[in-house]
Amino acid sequence: MLLKHTTNQVKERKALTVNPAKTCQPVGAMYAALGIHGCLPHSHGSQGCCSYHRSALTRHYKEPVMASTSSFTEGSSVFGGQANLMTAIDNIFAIYEPEIIAVHSTCLSETIGDDLNQMVIKAREEGKVPLGKHVIQASTPSYVGSHVTGYANMLEGIVKYFPEKTEEKRRQINLLAGWVEPSDMRELKRLSGLMKMKTVLLPDTSDVLDTPMTGKYEMYPKGGTTIPDMVSMGDSMRTIGLGEWGTRKAAIALDNKCKVPFDIVELPIGLRATDRFIQAMAKAGKVSIPESLANERGRLVDAITDMHQYLYGKRVAVFGDPDNILPLIEFLADMDMKPVYTVSGTPGKAFERRMAEVLSPRCPEAKYKNGPQADMLLMHQWIKQEPVDLIIGNTYGKYISRDEGIPFVRMGFPILDRIGHSYFPLVGYMGALRILEKILGALMDKIDATSPEESFELTM
Ligand code: SF4
Repeated sequence: MLLKHTTNQVKERKALTVNPAKTCQPVGAMYAALGIHGCLPHSHGSQGCCSYHRSALTRHYKEPVMASTSSFTEGSSVFGGQANLMTAIDNIFAIYEPEIIAVHSTCLSETIGDDLNQMVIKAREEGKVPLGKHVIQASTPSYVGSHVTGYANMLEGIVKYFPEKTEEKRRQINLLAGWVEPSDMRELKRLSGLMKMKTVLLPDTSDVLDTPMTGKYEMYPKGGTTIPDMVSMGDSMRTIGLGEWGTRKAAIALDNKCKVPFDIVELPIGLRATDRFIQAMAKAGKVSIPESLANERGRLVDAITDMHQYLYGKRVAVFGDPDNILPLIEFLADMDMKPVYTVSGTPGKAFERRMAEVLSPRCPEAKYKNGPQADMLLMHQWIKQEPVDLIIGNTYGKYISRDEGIPFVRMGFPILDRIGHSYFPLVGYMGALRILEKILGALMDKIDATSPEESFELTM
């Protein structure tokens, strides 16, 4: 009983977060930067921050995540880290030879007021950036927002730098991915391939954080969005951003810079969000929806219909990142499940509005909250008040699951104690089928483990 002191009494809290449902901004900035080919993320702060961010990503993706640091000491913490960054840029290009260094700030460098933008300009003016190489930057103070904010800020930094508008209009669509797994990014490319659309996916961590074992270490694996592709984004027909939190800033920045109009749709998680994504793609690319995709959809609807009896009315608690859980909540409600409790540590006004839209008609008793005090403690207290049949969220949910004896489906970031998320997508119709399979598996395992012998069934 690791959480035995949790009570069911919810107290109003203003300045205390217990077991946050989020992590810090630079983790997201690092992940976004890893989705560019030949890029080395650089953490402008102390070594401890960089170690934490690297280890968070390494533990989740089970791949060695490389990043450099400005290695602040007492001196740089007081007088600023400019000198450290200049030396770092020299050393990194000389020793590690990346095509791009993606610098992000940390709490410490933000607090002392380091101006990354000015420092990177200075590095360029002093000739520290070799010809054909690039340094980009994003401000990622971790005392606001979450890892999702950091991801969005780095994505914005990338599109402010690379895309260029020329006279040549390209028949291609920019696809800005919210924070999803390498497997999901591969699936997004498969879906656009099925629709015969040329897309530039940014970022793209497939073949970066799910690389095959070849026996040879590659510091910069073959995956990631390439520089020519990023430059070409300025001439695309349209941008589709997948997720309000992860991609809107970047879509606006690209529109401002290169006049590429954009649509923001939810990440294609679940049936209806995937429908909306496919429709947005078909409209933007002026293509029709192939029969093969209609068949994938049909198989999903068939499985939902077959399994409805096991899902109907099941109470679910969900926690995670808003772009990922909003479409998931809709999917659960579409399957007649009851997403009664939802928390997300990432702030943003659109969360409550969208949750109310989805849940008011179908699950009016639902409680939901986002922001710093929407933490795991709050969700556990709600569960103590009235239990649920299922918990969905990242690895940290295992404590509540174990203490309360509630089936648990791992989804989101980080997943530290299982594999699969890097390899099997959760987006698209096939991804929704996998979500359904995971949910059913968890519910049926509980029934098998607890049903009395006389009602222990071999079949469903
Ligand atoms: S000090 Fe800030 S940037 Fe560094 S690990 Fe902590 S929260 Fe993240």
